[in-house]
Amino acid sequence: MFIVKRTQEKDCRGKITVLSPQRGRLVLMAKGLFKPQSKLSGHLEPLTVVDGLIVWSQQPLLSAAVSRQSFLGIKNDLALTVAATELVRRLAEWWPPGQPLPRSWLDLITLLTQWNSHHYSWSQLTLASQIMSWRLAHELGYAPVGHTCIHCGRPLAAAFWSESQGGFFCEACQPEGLVCHLSHHTLVMWEDLVRSERLELTKLPSSSTILEELTAFFNSWLNFLDLC
Ligand SMILES: [Zn+2]
Repeated sequence: MFIVKRTQEKDCRGKITVLSPQRGRLVLMAKGLFKPQSKLSGHLEPLTVVDGLIVWSQQPLLSAAVSRQSFLGIKNDLALTVAATELVRRLAEWWPPGQPLPRSWLDLITLLTQWNSHHYSWSQLTLASQIMSWRLAHELGYAPVGHTCIHCGRPLAAAFWSESQGGFFCEACQPEGLVCHLSHHTLVMWEDLVRSERLELTKLPSSSTILEELTAFFNSWLNFLDLC
């Protein structure tokens, strides 16, 4: 499982939020985690994959844990740590308790493993975070679909995303108000990145136009999700 965050409760207990490939998001308690002599503490840093032993009760208890992947390449780099922490925080908000999400779990491990060992520019990190978020939303069934205009049903060459309507329109049907334009090239690339079997960090576009279009669309889509 993957450690998202940990907080201190009374009596030096730790409350740990994790993502599990089998059980989705979980909140676990760990006795004595914040005592100086705790053996668990070093293994339960945020942004770490661990093997853990859980005692199931009303409040599941993490009784033992061994870290398997610590992503030290990320933790030793401030920009990477910021990008990874922000991404994981967002994913954990969306990741439902009790639900296995095999594709997104694999995406998360793939992304962090790549970030841990390769150098990426800030825009590549941003774009990878966006694609990962969209892929999770897609697996959960609430990412928008980009083939056809939601008004007239015609196939889309280029798309006009409307934040207030939460969907894609063709040029003729685009509504008043805030609309993000996605060129044909951007739209095709976006669909491909969101739908492909695996997260492909090597395929991320480097064009600044595509990055700008996708980032504007992503932020608008986040606003839309907040509305509903
Ligand atoms: Zn239309």
